[in-house]
Amino acid sequence: MPKNKAGGRRRKETPPRIVLVGDDSCGSVLGKQAKPVQRKSDWAKLPKLVKTLLCVLRKAGGQGISAPQTGSRLSVVVIETRKTVSRRNVAPSRPIVMVNPVITDRSGKMVMGEEGCLSVIDPDGTHVLRGKVERHQWIKVTYLDLKRRQHHNRTFRGFKARVVQHEIDHLAGKLFLDRVDWRHNAAKQLRMVKLKKKTK
Ligand SMILES: [Zn+2]
Repeated sequence: MPKNKAGGRRRKETPPRIVLVGDDSCGSVLGKQAKPVQRKSDWAKLPKLVKTLLCVLRKAGGQGISAPQTGSRLSVVVIETRKTVSRRNVAPSRPIVMVNPVITDRSGKMVMGEEGCLSVIDPDGTHVLRGKVERHQWIKVTYLDLKRRQHHNRTFRGFKARVVQHEIDHLAGKLFLDRVDWRHNAAKQLRMVKLKKKTK
């Protein structure tokens, strides 16, 4: 670690990192059931955890992220989808923080759509694996919020419902790859997509 002029160690915040499939730490968080936020000490960790999740999500240009993807075992997801306002303007929606989310009802109708995951990326960090997955068209979710610790019951439809299902899957140790229909031609179900170069 570099030292500053005074001879002391320079304090530098370690940038948050996404746990990737294939990492040594992957099995200890990504494949495990998350723990519900219950104890006072769990709640005390949330402001920092949510800040980290939002920071990582925005840096990666994703639409949703779960706590296990940053190495935490707590049952927390953050959703921040974007909608097209005009041809050149894409606005983010207000972030939704869900603590201990549970899907309580779901549509019978399933819809097929393509998904990617911030944890399923090639080692060079240049390509993301995307695949077609069937999801419920709408879902009802109950969760606690960060500040008021109140129960919310909310219905999500369409793309947002897809993102929420994807993130809640992470809390059960599941990846979208577990839901890809392998009975069909895998090559048609999955594709590698080059990531856009990020501007800092
Ligand atoms: Zn994911």
